[in-house]
Amino acid sequence: MCKLNQCNVNSLTPDGYCHRHKVWSKHQKYIVPHLKKYIDKVKNTKGIKNKVEIVGNLLNYLNYKIEFLNLNEGFKTVILQRCEQIENDCKKQMEEPYHYDHIQIFFRCLDQINQLRINLGVLKD
Ligand SMILES: [Zn+2]
Repeated sequence: MCKLNQCNVNSLTPDGYCHRHKVWSKHQKYIVPHLKKYIDKVKNTKGIKNKVEIVGNLLNYLNYKIEFLNLNEGFKTVILQRCEQIENDCKKQMEEPYHYDHIQIFFRCLDQINQLRINLGVLKD
């Protein structure tokens, strides 16, 4: 049975998640396709606000995947570089008065980037 409470579908992954919850596995085989799907979604989404919202969801996911990132240095480096770009984009957008209504989304994203850096032990000050 699947490892998640309230899910009684047969497990699929070696660490006991079902086909629907396989993205919570710690195995690269299940994590990488999910990350690729997210990255494509960000790429294909129009509008900075919508993009940042998806990035926020991706960061939330990555914050549960610290072990995976620490075991995959190359991947971790790319993610941290992207975070820096996104951080700069967010800060630039936040200076635009017409984004005033969406300012929370940018703040949330910056928070999540910092949370990821803290979890990875790479917070710079
Ligand atoms: Zn499940």
